[in-house]
Amino acid sequence: MPWLVDEMAIAPEAIHKQVMQVPGVMNCHDIASRGLLGRQVFIDMHLVVEPTDVEKAHEITEEIEARLEQLYGPARITIHIEPYGYRSRKITY
Ligand SMILES: [Zn+2]
Repeated sequence: MPWLVDEMAIAPEAIHKQVMQVPGVMNCHDIASRGLLGRQVFIDMHLVVEPTDVEKAHEITEEIEARLEQLYGPARITIHIEPYGYRSRKITY
């Protein structure tokens, strides 16, 4: 049933709750998921992190991926990282 693929797999609030528990995460928004829970889910999100270096920011994404996969099974996770202060700088334009 191909239409099932476009259905939301996991409540964004549930993902948000998990992500916010990871140290270094300041904000998480635009969360979406689709796929079949327990088979293969696709999750994407925007993330505001405290560290400004790529290595530390990447570590945070690894931690998020591990947590979500442990909870929801096989998942392909795409994380769009925004540095801390990005949103407030954007507002001034
Ligand atoms: Zn964003």
